[in-house]
Amino acid sequence: MGFMYRLREALARFFYGRNGVDALGWALLFAQLALSMLSSLFGGVLGRVLNSVGLVFWFLLIFRMLSKNLGKRREENARFLRFWNPIKARLSSAAARRRDTAHKYFRCRCGAYCRVPRGVGKVEITCPKCGSKIFGKS
Ligand SMILES: [Zn+2]
Repeated sequence: MGFMYRLREALARFFYGRNGVDALGWALLFAQLALSMLSSLFGGVLGRVLNSVGLVFWFLLIFRMLSKNLGKRREENARFLRFWNPIKARLSSAAARRRDTAHKYFRCRCGAYCRVPRGVGKVEITCPKCGSKIFGKS
């Protein structure tokens, strides 16, 4: 048996019954990386504060990875996802709208996006959600 195989087995044994890295774990990792990069940009007190917060995130990450209290960790992860999923959905639909060059999107007062083909000229859109009118140029 090769060394890598044994290492993988050992890691699997070690993490068996532990939480490992979940979505919140990744978020903590990225937040920590971002904070440590920011802290290197800012010197002085602000840099030290950012660095300390990043260190707290790092400890949280390690603690959650190694934790055997799976119920509690899953609950934390679920709470994080309840907060994060709407943001993620908004970001990914904004990216999809940017990619879509064949349409122009108008934002209604009610928050709905109305899609119109590009290059039609002046348009009057009736929002399918609330029925109010939008005037625009596509
Ligand atoms: Zn509307």
